Amino acid sequence: MNKADSERMAGILENMGFQWSEDPDHADLILYNTCTIRDNAEQKVYSYLGKQVKRKHEKPDLTLVVAGCVAQQEGEALLRRVPELDLVMGPQHANRLQDLLEQVFDGNQVVATEPVHIFEDITKPRRDSTVTAWVNVIYGCNERCTYCVVPNVRGQEQSRTPEAIRSEMEALGQQGYREITLLGQNIDAYGRDLPGTTVDGRHKHTLTDLLYYVHDVPGIDRIRFATSHPRYFTERLIRACAELPKVCEHFHIPFQSGDNEVLKAMARGYTHEKYRRIIDTIRHYMPDASISADAIVAFPGETEAQFQNTLKLVEDIGFDQLNTAAYSPRPGTPAAQWDNQLSETVKSDRLQRLNHLVALKAAERSQRYLGRIEDVLVEDQNPKDSTQVMGRTRGNRLVFFAGNIQELQGKTVPVEITTVRAFSLTGNRVATPVATSPVCA
Ligand code: SAH
Ligand code: SF4
Repeated sequence: MNKADSERMAGILENMGFQWSEDPDHADLILYNTCTIRDNAEQKVYSYLGKQVKRKHEKPDLTLVVAGCVAQQEGEALLRRVPELDLVMGPQHANRLQDLLEQVFDGNQVVATEPVHIFEDITKPRRDSTVTAWVNVIYGCNERCTYCVVPNVRGQEQSRTPEAIRSEMEALGQQGYREITLLGQNIDAYGRDLPGTTVDGRHKHTLTDLLYYVHDVPGIDRIRFATSHPRYFTERLIRACAELPKVCEHFHIPFQSGDNEVLKAMARGYTHEKYRRIIDTIRHYMPDASISADAIVAFPGETEAQFQNTLKLVEDIGFDQLNTAAYSPRPGTPAAQWDNQLSETVKSDRLQRLNHLVALKAAERSQRYLGRIEDVLVEDQNPKDSTQVMGRTRGNRLVFFAGNIQELQGKTVPVEITTVRAFSLTGNRVATPVATSPVCA
């Protein structure tokens, strides 16, 4: 989500006539788009800022902007801490960057953190890739997970209209993009806030309806979406994914903990049994589907036995990928106030043990690719070996193979997998055309 915001803000800056500089020490304007999901993410901006603040003392016309979730969380306090800043702007204001900068160039120091209705961005984002692109479908989050700062900093849910989403996708298809990832903090909430009639007793605008509405956009070969919430994930959505050929068999569904008591304390609204049922249903319809997730270890009060339940879930499910983190207390969240916080030693011990298991299971999952011919959408050159290109399978595994990027970028080619590692594969391009994935055909 932050990357998508950065690309939109970079697009606005280019539209205003700014040019991208690889070297921050030569830039006239520096914008830090910040993250506050955990404390170590938040601290990064302060270390980067220190250096640029010094430079501003020698070059007073340097414009310094802090955007994103740290800006939203700290607001005016950030200006008191770093008075050299020109603009502090929360994530809901990303699309207003030009307007805010014009106020700065008129001589104002600006803080934009009030909740707003997010306007459609009419400028083009400056996208990092020419093959894959993010498309926001819903901003904000109305959940109240007790560890999470996101609802405080990204505000109430705001869905974009299906028409706006489709027209952004159509433009991307025309520009040569091949893969779209639809984005939302809780993408299953898509459409709840949109006015609309009810069809067959259900609201018309759901994520499932959106997938049907956009799946035939010309030029786009692959569609993914993230992040899914187990509380709202429906069988209707699973069936749509199995039925729609462009929707990839890859699901990112964070479970956070494998223990029901911990899940309750987190206010997640589901049990590990429900989570397991979702995965079973996905695998019933799409036996080869890739599953990834997020998990938190050492949540306040988590016992060793409760942590073992997380290990057990990871053992049983066999994730293709898992993002893991030790619990980090966040300002303004309920769990940060509790007096049953765990020590740093317990946090790092559990994190290490979980990561070890994750790598083992991911390596096991990679085995299924060995000898198979996979459709790989080529994104870029392998940064470590210019004779190779890299791309992804529909299941989102990274694949390297010998090839020329000029010829292959943006193309989907069949690759026979010859070497498997936990999180990536190597193979050889083969001539056999693979029309569609065996799962979706
Ligand atoms: N909306 C998504 C995730 C948003 S945050 C969801 O509901 O799953 C991304 C991930 O950061 C979360 O899934 C969680 O695993 C992690 N995270 C969030 N707050 C955290 C905290 N206080 N400490 C550690 N990890 C956290
Ligand atoms: Fe945070 Fe995700 Fe929970 Fe929303 S659903 S509060 S973003 S963890």
